[in-house]
Amino acid sequence: MTQVVDAYIGLGSNLSDPQQQVTTALQELNAIPDTCLVEASSLYVSKPMGPSDQPDYINAVAKISTGLTPEGLLKALQGIEQAHQRQRKDERWGPRTLDLDIILFAEEQIKTQSLQIPHYGVAEREFVLIPLQELQPDLIIPGKGAVASLIEKLPPFKLSKINKN
Ligand code: ATP
Ligand code: MG
Ligand code: MG
Repeated sequence: MTQVVDAYIGLGSNLSDPQQQVTTALQELNAIPDTCLVEASSLYVSKPMGPSDQPDYINAVAKISTGLTPEGLLKALQGIEQAHQRQRKDERWGPRTLDLDIILFAEEQIKTQSLQIPHYGVAEREFVLIPLQELQPDLIIPGKGAVASLIEKLPPFKLSKINKN
């Protein structure tokens, strides 16, 4: 029998109508085989990490339920990124139409060449922690601690929320 677990996906976009990119991607998560979208956070506007000569980002976090393996889920997410014409360049954290990262996968802690779960940057990224807290205020990140206490350690917020319609 397939094991179905909850996972959290971080979404980000800063090119080609980012709000639309993220909204469409949320529906596409729901269309991944053996997977459904449980709940999506609000959309947030954030300042870019890394190179600052690029547009602001739209971010969100989605809670999904999936019967896929972590590697299977990563492949499905990369397929969605490609369908959004994501171009991978040498520059780290450069502008992109869509980024889909696995933030959490059940309680698992994974470290392989292609996959690190929980996502390595989760504890320092307000554009991940704030939407995660919106979805589940009492969430604990394996190996890192409670979302609420990680948020307390962040520098002052630069994130702003786009009201849900
Ligand atoms: P960052 O990982 O710092 O957010 P990024 O999302 O822009 O940067 P990508 O170019 O999207 O980085 O991904 C680079 C590689 O990260 C992918 O090829 C993938 O194998 C790997 N990776 C490792 N852990 C994860 C994860 N939890 N979710 C998604 N990709 C991951
Ligand atoms: Mg990323
Ligand atoms: Mg990524």
